[in-house]
Amino acid sequence: MAEHKKVEKIVGVKGMNDILPEQAPLWEIFENTVQTVLKSYGFQQIRTPILEPTALFARGLGAVTDIVEKEMYSFTDSMNGDQLTMRPEATAGVVRAAIEHNLTYDRPQRLWYSGPMFRHEKPQRGRYRQFHQVGAEALGFTGPDIDAELIMLCQRLWDDLGLTNVHLELNSIGDAEERNKHRIDLIAYFEQHMEILDAEAKRRLYSNPLRILDTKNPAMQDMVSQAPQLLDYLGEVSRAHFEGVQSVLRHNAIPYKINPRLVRGMDYYNRTVFEWVSEELGAQGTICAGGRYDSLADMFGGKNMPACGFAMGIERILELMKQGGEIFASNQCDVYIVHQGEGAQMQAFVAGERLRDAGLDVVLHCASTSGVGSFKSQMKRADASGAAYAVIIGEEEVRQNSAIVKSLRSEDMENNQATVPLEGVAAYLVDQIVGEDEHDHGEHVHYHH
Ligand code: ATP
Ligand code: MG
Repeated sequence: MAEHKKVEKIVGVKGMNDILPEQAPLWEIFENTVQTVLKSYGFQQIRTPILEPTALFARGLGAVTDIVEKEMYSFTDSMNGDQLTMRPEATAGVVRAAIEHNLTYDRPQRLWYSGPMFRHEKPQRGRYRQFHQVGAEALGFTGPDIDAELIMLCQRLWDDLGLTNVHLELNSIGDAEERNKHRIDLIAYFEQHMEILDAEAKRRLYSNPLRILDTKNPAMQDMVSQAPQLLDYLGEVSRAHFEGVQSVLRHNAIPYKINPRLVRGMDYYNRTVFEWVSEELGAQGTICAGGRYDSLADMFGGKNMPACGFAMGIERILELMKQGGEIFASNQCDVYIVHQGEGAQMQAFVAGERLRDAGLDVVLHCASTSGVGSFKSQMKRADASGAAYAVIIGEEEVRQNSAIVKSLRSEDMENNQATVPLEGVAAYLVDQIVGEDEHDHGEHVHYHH
């Protein structure tokens, strides 16, 4: 068509990333590994909606948190006036669902989820407006054993992903009564240092002083490090719980550091809190954060449901995986099928199906904007696909009901192709590929199940 009107390009929403095919294999490795690890601890998947009533987060996260104060994507449903929010995290939704469906009626539940979360933050390295979390929620468990199990599960995941240089920080924030005593002393302490408090800290001084301990402001670090520590306010039961967690960790040789400033701001969080931190991610170093929240269900009008969980940021973990190198992830297929001439395309379709029956990953050459293309241009596509083999079907092969199998990797140009009867192509290729693996790695590799 002749005239082409200039139309303005539409670009994606700031801070919300496209995950392109070249990144997909890394995501797949992570997702498969985390699923396997979670399953190996008996966790079962739950999928809750992305949209939840805004009240769920206002109550579930507390009004005086970064998320509820300024990070939520909230809107009014124009159809019925409902106040809705795109989930900034998934714990609230999982707990809502557990109450709604009575999941812990007769037994505790080990649940996990994975999916996108939405927070209106300033986009930067490791901080996006749409990001992804995998999380686990152990609902209806009371003891330190499950807290420790969740931590050990994470350690196993880092090991299986090959992540080193991730360390565990641990703390106990006691129960509500213990925090109340601490709070009084904490406010008094901050009041003596008003000149050092920044605007945000002043704003939170009486509403959520615990959260000031969490500040990232360098000018406040010295003052904050001298503040009264919650650990000194723990009663016997909280101390025993904390010791219970640590004793399992020690027994299983999981290193940890107690960080008395590690906190969660809301009242329904209690006792165990932990974070997994990497030094290799700059300012956004926390890859996983968790803790106990025994009274969250109460906030939602459910019956008492003690619980502990964690959430990890997938983007930050993938960044670490990339830095570690040594990841063999690819989008490559095993075979690219090239065809040319009368009847060849139909035979190529048949060959493709046979190969897939045998478990191979096959790309069949199809017409694009440049048409089906010459034999030479098709072979170029085959090379570019990263396939180890090309299967070539021309008019001669159609007549003989055969195919040419050509290695795209072999150095030996003389011996790198063979004509094989069509019904034998799959077996021939499986043989070649398995043989090649044994040759390359000295062991049998299961290419496909
Ligand atoms: P931060 O202090 O970095 O803002 P947070 O306390 O808000 O973290 P949580 O709500 O505990 O984070 O979420 C658990 C994990 O999810 C974080 O440790 C991090 O790995 C990841 N995460 C949180 N917010 C983002 C974001 N905007 N972009 C990417 N990952 C995120
Ligand atoms: Mg945050």
